[in-house]
Amino acid sequence: MKKRLKNYVGGEWRNSGSEDVREVKNPAKDEVIAEVPLSSSEEVDECVEAAKEAFESWSNIPVTERIEPLFELVHGLKDQKERIARGLTEEHGKVYGSALGELERTIQMVEGACATLESNKGDFTENVSANIDEYTVRRPLGVFATIAPFNFPAMVPWWYAPWAVAVGDTFILKANEQCPITQQRIFELIDEKIDLPDGVINLINGGKEVGERLIIHPDIEGITFVGSTPVGKEIYSQAADRGKRVQCQTGANNFLVVMPDVDLDSVMSNIMNSCFGNAGQRCLAGSIVLGVGEIYPELEETFIDHAREIEVDQGMEEGADMGPVVSKEALERLESDIEQGLQEGGELLMDGREIEVEGYDQGYFLGPTVFKAKKGMKIFDEEIFGPIVCLDSVETLDEAVEMINEDKYGNAASIYTEKGGAAREFRNGVKIGNVGVNLGVVAPMSYYPFGGMKDSFFGDLHGQGKDIVNFFADRQVVIRRWMKK
Ligand code: NAD
Repeated sequence: MKKRLKNYVGGEWRNSGSEDVREVKNPAKDEVIAEVPLSSSEEVDECVEAAKEAFESWSNIPVTERIEPLFELVHGLKDQKERIARGLTEEHGKVYGSALGELERTIQMVEGACATLESNKGDFTENVSANIDEYTVRRPLGVFATIAPFNFPAMVPWWYAPWAVAVGDTFILKANEQCPITQQRIFELIDEKIDLPDGVINLINGGKEVGERLIIHPDIEGITFVGSTPVGKEIYSQAADRGKRVQCQTGANNFLVVMPDVDLDSVMSNIMNSCFGNAGQRCLAGSIVLGVGEIYPELEETFIDHAREIEVDQGMEEGADMGPVVSKEALERLESDIEQGLQEGGELLMDGREIEVEGYDQGYFLGPTVFKAKKGMKIFDEEIFGPIVCLDSVETLDEAVEMINEDKYGNAASIYTEKGGAAREFRNGVKIGNVGVNLGVVAPMSYYPFGGMKDSFFGDLHGQGKDIVNFFADRQVVIRRWMKK
């Protein structure tokens, strides 16, 4: 029998009464592995009510007691990471090594939030005037919700949840409906092993309607969203219009710039990981590789040679470098993008549609696909979100920087060079939130903000680090005077 997933509300597992369900499939096999309920508005309201009720006492308990469960969670996740990672590979398709890596990043997020005692301290100034002191008190705000994407089903919700609860807010996660099993497992761990009062952290399953209800709910203080740009833009304006705190981390189209001085053999495995890791379904994935000057012909040749070496297979198989894409719809969309790329004049240097994966002929596999393409083509200008990469040449670094800045997205860009001056010029010139030097996946550690500019981010305070602490806590300013005796 298919496992039907549950909501975790007010410290207990609840069956959704919704008739509306969605099948969760293993993308390597096209096999149904679970059913996720698309919860009703009433169920969302019950979830908000539980979180609201918990806020009253949670926001008032000693700060050290609020951190204690996070330490327990770090240990619990370490103990169970292999089990959770196997489930992640099964529902998402990413290779097991990447799933484990994602779990390790998730743990680092929770560890990072354990430092909230330090980052959430107030300020104090004595004698701002005679006998008058001024200080800030940092205060939790209430109930926050996160709306999550499919591509990092374990990690992304934990860019937010641990800081929200450490600050004293209560939290609701709307898991992603395509890959909801991973968070179900993490919440099982929370339920069984972590000493958190009921309602402090809640999980609700569902699709866009659940997200929409959370955004308009009057008792939700703020929303964090990670997902595509059109949805994020809409959510940003809807939430802001209601006076809520909101931050939306959205789509990307990332450039990797290869300078003429580079030894290609020493950087190519890093470039491959950026372009084809997670089957290109990463907001930090390299999508466009620009060769500057005379390096281009060698870059094209070496790139194709290495791309041919990538082992495409079911994520648990030994030696697999890249698994399937997440769904049949995603595969069809990518195939149609390839067609359009050809119609628009792109030169297909490597066609991933030819891939066959033995034993998994129903899987949603697309092999590494490489175009020689130009600005003005959809595959070059839009977020493709799959294992499709465009190569192009430019004459100078300035030209590369200009091209990057003309792109509507601003999530990540990297330069490969041994020349410090070129790297500095690049960093200074690009309007990009996460910049890499000789690194193609610029994933900030938990104690730094996750960058993002232009159409890749809507908001002001970012996820992770001090920014997220400021997002979840308000500052009350007190100016006080005591009369002299
Ligand atoms: P998506 O926008 O389709 O969905 C994201 C979430 O939003 C889902 O939980 C979905 O149910 C919900 N949703 C959809 N429409 C909604 C609406 N109208 N109101 C409220 N909620 C709604 O994104 P996806 O396909 O799951 O994820 C891939 C996208 O996420 C890519 O664009 C990728 O670049 C982006 N992403 C960005 C970052 C970043 O840090 N910038 C990180 C990871 C993923």
